[in-house]
Amino acid sequence: MTKHHASAIGVFLVAQVFAALVPNLVARAAGVPPAQTAPSAAPPIAPQPESLKVVLLGTGVGPMVNQEQYGASILVEAGGQRLLFDCGRGATLRLAQAGIPIGSVSRVFLTHLHSDHVIQLPDLLLVGWAAGRRAVPLAVWGPAGTRDMMSHLQQAFAFDIHVRRDVDEHFPAAGITVVSHDIKEEGVVLDENGLRVTAFLVDHGVVGPAFGYRVDYGGRSVLLSGDTRVSENLIRHARGVDVLIHEAIDPEMLRTRPDRPSPAIIDAIIAHHTTPEQAGTVFRRVAPRLAVYSHAPNTARVLAQTRTTYRGPLQGAEDLLTIHIGNEVRVEHHPLQALIASKAR
Ligand SMILES: [Zn+2]
Ligand SMILES: [Zn+2]
Repeated sequence: MTKHHASAIGVFLVAQVFAALVPNLVARAAGVPPAQTAPSAAPPIAPQPESLKVVLLGTGVGPMVNQEQYGASILVEAGGQRLLFDCGRGATLRLAQAGIPIGSVSRVFLTHLHSDHVIQLPDLLLVGWAAGRRAVPLAVWGPAGTRDMMSHLQQAFAFDIHVRRDVDEHFPAAGITVVSHDIKEEGVVLDENGLRVTAFLVDHGVVGPAFGYRVDYGGRSVLLSGDTRVSENLIRHARGVDVLIHEAIDPEMLRTRPDRPSPAIIDAIIAHHTTPEQAGTVFRRVAPRLAVYSHAPNTARVLAQTRTTYRGPLQGAEDLLTIHIGNEVRVEHHPLQALIASKAR
């Protein structure tokens, strides 16, 4: 199968899921007026505002440079709060493309400290302050080592911080401070005005501790796997979740990677992650309203392999995809994605 065919099938599969899930969006996009209903005695029920919004900023896998799928990063908006989960390569660029001011992100949750999940943090920290006018501290939650990493970043950029804070622009000092939280054990890490973030341990092989996160707000929920192989703990924490966002790797893609990893390295990578067939079994057991890939190749093969074990609603790993979680779960493809996909062919 050529890559072109694979992409076409992928688009078809995703489009099928998309159309099945979001007839209202399709109708709206096509300019179709909403269906008229006969008057009744009961007052109309006002549509509930969507209570959780998720934007997949970067859905790529691992440290390799990937121009179609940027580094791991997911934004969740709920209750007027913006929460960023991981900050991989290109996260700040994707924020700009999604129309989200960089300075408006002041809360970051890290799944683990692999560089592909944190490498854009200096940009968020420094540019969110200097160009984004963030005037409040950057709050960062993550596994042991997070506090050290953030304080070392401040040391590394001491010159820029000093000049812009004390000498030249005199930007507010609060905006370039960091409040770091090393998460010592799993549990609720943020509970504020009905918005709850729960960290739970996942199984990233020898790379630990590694966390996944669940966000609950207004009776809606989303769970982010972080990097993990099949995790019973994740399945426990995912009970009743609306949207499950899970990672996957493609062993065949690993074997044909340009840098030709050795069989031992390939085996180690596979042992740290989840294959699409395995992810399908996780999706089947959790039965979310929508299963979504992120930190996974955006290919027809991943979707097809998932289909050997899971028949429910499924969305591939697509940068800048927005997921609205309310009465319906609705996905919105970013206009840039068409450009990204056409360049990938
Ligand atoms: Zn990773
Ligand atoms: Zn990792």
